[in-house]
Amino acid sequence: MDFNGLKYLVVGSGFFGSVIAERIARDKNEKVLVIDKRPHIGGNSHSEIDNETGIECHTYGSHIFHASNEKVWRYINRFCTFNSYRHKVLTRYKNKIYQMPINLHTINAFYEKNLGPGEAENFMKSEIAREGIQNPVNLEEKAISLIGRPLYEALIKGYTTKQWDTDPKKLPANIITRLPVRYNYKSDYFDDPWQGIPSEGYHAIFKKMLADPNIEVHLGTDFFDVRRLIPGTCKIIYTGPIDRFFDFKFGKLGWRTLTFEKSTYHLGDYQGTAVMNYAEVSAPYTRIHEFRHYHEERKYPDDKTIIFREYSKGSGKDDEPYYPINTGEDKMILERYQNECEKNKNVIFGGRLGMYKYLDMDQTIAQALETYEKRIKENA
Ligand SMILES: Cc1cc2nc3c(=O)[nH]c(=O)nc-3n(C[C@H](O)[C@H](O)[C@H](O)COP(=O)(O)OP(=O)(O)OC[C@H]3O[C@@H](n4cnc5c(N)ncnc54)[C@H](O)[C@@H]3O)c2cc1C
Repeated sequence: MDFNGLKYLVVGSGFFGSVIAERIARDKNEKVLVIDKRPHIGGNSHSEIDNETGIECHTYGSHIFHASNEKVWRYINRFCTFNSYRHKVLTRYKNKIYQMPINLHTINAFYEKNLGPGEAENFMKSEIAREGIQNPVNLEEKAISLIGRPLYEALIKGYTTKQWDTDPKKLPANIITRLPVRYNYKSDYFDDPWQGIPSEGYHAIFKKMLADPNIEVHLGTDFFDVRRLIPGTCKIIYTGPIDRFFDFKFGKLGWRTLTFEKSTYHLGDYQGTAVMNYAEVSAPYTRIHEFRHYHEERKYPDDKTIIFREYSKGSGKDDEPYYPINTGEDKMILERYQNECEKNKNVIFGGRLGMYKYLDMDQTIAQALETYEKRIKENA
């Protein structure tokens, strides 16, 4: 790899890095080098076909594309088409299945009632009022003030305990701002006008994005192993963890991580849906993903299926960071790193790791397009 005369280096080939590289190559007609320490492009949105079954799996957990931003939708459609998948989430509690987010079906099934929309709304108001929580001081109180105690204890408490490995009474109230309750039978998880799974999978999107002759990609390359070779004049678009860039000098930012346990079953269908939440603490995993359901349009084997069981834990030294924890201390540490970023004029920090922020794919693409327009397009 030759860094001599290099003008643009993108660290990380997830959506943030790939969009920026694509824009530099096609819009600006400049050469750009993309490196990623993983053996594949696409970051956490990567998908791959399982050899044994031919089923496409999302390596880092289910990824459903959904967008309300027309600019993002038009941009991504240059690299793929989407199937008509609409995401629905079910939660299993005490061997019964409930729809999420909570809707009229969830309320009626859980309370064994047959309420209409207005009746259900009044019923939920009385459930909430019964607890009398005006100023919630922790996550548990906040959730109860939004959906009442019985639904909280069944559908939220155990799941949240597993997700954060902490009693929800010890978690700050601001982790949740809202718990949507729908007083109708709408069961689509997302409200966005544009939704789906890329028909040819996520990997195909990244291959197309990075296919321009102006783009060179080196996988299995860690930025910190080559950093000293990069010329000072090179513009670096860095999408790795912000604290790692500064050698953790102000401390480490907290992350939750996920692990996935893959199983192949000799069945045509394991759970009848793509994602099933497990609300009880007695099930050690939080969710089960079954990938065949993301592509109803494909011909998959009718005697084999693949599931991933998802487990959540605190992120250790060698774990992949997934969700920022964002405690008060994290926020203070982040502010100090952000001040340092200001001093590194040749580096643009972006993406979920570079910004220490949970971003959906559409938000990541929007941020990358904006960053390109404002900070790269017009600059030499
Ligand atoms: C479990 C889970 C489920 C999700 N589901 C959805 C969903 O359904 N819909 C949705 O819209 N979004 C979803 N997301 C969010 C989605 O994953 C992100 O929007 C997207 O990954 C952000 O892209 P990125 O480029 O910022 O980061 P990433 O995709 O993480 O890419 C960063 C890349 O940088 C590389 N890198 C890091 N450090 C270095 C280094 N030192 N040297 C070289 N390379 C480095 C990494 O290997 C990685 O490939 C989900 C996220 C999670 C965690």
